[in-house]
Amino acid sequence: MKESPLEIKTYPDPVLRKKAQDVMKVTDRERRLINDMVETMHANQGIGLAATQVGVAKRISVMDAGDGLLKMINPVILEKKGASLLEEGCLSMPARQVEIERAEELSVSFLDEEGKRTTKNLKGLIARAVQHEIDHLNGKLIIDYLPWYKRVFPKIGEVQCLQ
Ligand SMILES: [Zn+2]
Repeated sequence: MKESPLEIKTYPDPVLRKKAQDVMKVTDRERRLINDMVETMHANQGIGLAATQVGVAKRISVMDAGDGLLKMINPVILEKKGASLLEEGCLSMPARQVEIERAEELSVSFLDEEGKRTTKNLKGLIARAVQHEIDHLNGKLIIDYLPWYKRVFPKIGEVQCLQ
């Protein structure tokens, strides 16, 4: 297993609540960051990683749900279809699992590593990962989907042996 080149910030690091800014121009700097993010994601067995999770407030995310790597700069969801419920984890919140309803299919537009706008239609786990990472770029975390009483009293209604 390769070493993780970047340190993953964990909750409650304030950078996780920052709204990331659009990348104006894709340069070698962004490409290097993307490569490091991919290695970091794989080294930590994640299926997605957003730049805010490594302390960079830029709209960049990488995802790999097993059917190929996706690298997205300035991703925007154009259309969503269907809904599914699944328990999600997050590399920035290692001890939490939260059940979240998300769109089952989506169409997403983004810049590739050359700065070219591309659109992809995705479904299933990879579509879920895209939505999770875009949440990160907006400063939103999986615990934000919990009802308020579970945020205040995390043990209510949960199996006690999770950690
Ligand atoms: Zn996450």
